Amino acid sequence: MKSILVTGGAGFIGSHTCLLLLKKGYDIFILDSFVNSSEKLIQKLSSTLEGENFDINEKINLIKGDIKNKDDIEKVFQLSFKIRKTIIAVIHFAGLKSVSDSILKPLTYWENNVYGTINLLNIMKKYKCKNIVFSSSAAVYQTKSKKLLNENDACNPINPYGFTKLTIENILKDVIKSEPLEWRIACLRYFNPIGAHEFGFLGEDPTSKPTNIFPQITKVAMGKYNNIQIFGSDWPTHDGTGVRDYIHVMDLAEGHLSALDYLLNDIPQILILNLGTGLGTSVLELINTFQKVNNISVPYIFKGRRSGDNAFVVANNSLAKSVLNWEPKRNLEDMCRDGWNWQLKNPMRFNN
Ligand code: NAD
Repeated sequence: MKSILVTGGAGFIGSHTCLLLLKKGYDIFILDSFVNSSEKLIQKLSSTLEGENFDINEKINLIKGDIKNKDDIEKVFQLSFKIRKTIIAVIHFAGLKSVSDSILKPLTYWENNVYGTINLLNIMKKYKCKNIVFSSSAAVYQTKSKKLLNENDACNPINPYGFTKLTIENILKDVIKSEPLEWRIACLRYFNPIGAHEFGFLGEDPTSKPTNIFPQITKVAMGKYNNIQIFGSDWPTHDGTGVRDYIHVMDLAEGHLSALDYLLNDIPQILILNLGTGLGTSVLELINTFQKVNNISVPYIFKGRRSGDNAFVVANNSLAKSVLNWEPKRNLEDMCRDGWNWQLKNPMRFNN
């Protein structure tokens, strides 16, 4: 039986991707430290998959472990051999993702993201598993103008988080140079994933106060915080607030399935692809859409610009569309509706 190892699979994007892997018939190993997620993943996936004709407990091995610890990764590969479920590819989500935290704690970010990935690659090489889909980010780009970002545009991150992602991409380029006929690698540069699976059992469930905008909007709408702080009202954009490319997490998850499929059926190579919608939305437009779609008020206040932020970060997604035959299908209203549905169904997070 062939399996996929999903590091960080209990997290926001990982859990939605695991759902699709299971639906596609894969068995999965999930390695997660739960530093930013919950051990209740199987319960959430079971609820979402109710009615499917397979036993989820037979298809998932959920292992608590840290990619900073090589032995934790090796144990997963050993288990896969023992139970004869060979890991044919890794989808590598495990990482810390807060731009502002990365500025406060750069060493923690470098150690977790870069050192952790080096451990993973070493163990993959040892066990001759050389197919990997890596969670990169739009944070790798140098974003000085209002143009859509192409994969071959200059990269020059402005925060440690973005540097860790770019460094991992560079490591992966070196790895494939050393064994060009063996590795199949996809670096997927995500833009701004938000929303949740439409059933409301899976969603973004951070273990501490979120620093990204969408979970803050849902928490304010719930009354957990008084208002949203919008960092900067004087950015060079049409309404002065930052413009981002929001993408529904299910569209992003589908992009991973397409990338995996493509890699496993094509020649050894490294792909670098933007996963975004190509549509820019300002922070104010996001808040207004959320209020309108869900008929709820989300108070906000303006603060000064935040270090590590940019004015305009929007993808040119044409390469991913043509290479992967993938296309985002859900719009901003869907993202706002599904994200709020998840929050309403999970007022008390599993983690607290
Ligand atoms: P998330 O925090 O919800 O998920 C990451 C998961 O990795 C969590 O379950 C966490 O517990 C786990 N993890 C972190 N460090 C680990 C370690 N050392 N060992 C084992 N597990 C560990 O984040 P997400 O939004 O699902 O993001 C997934 C990946 O995508 C991350 O690498 C992130 O940097 C990247 N990314 C996210 C966004 C975004 O806006 N969400 C954008 C671009 C890139």
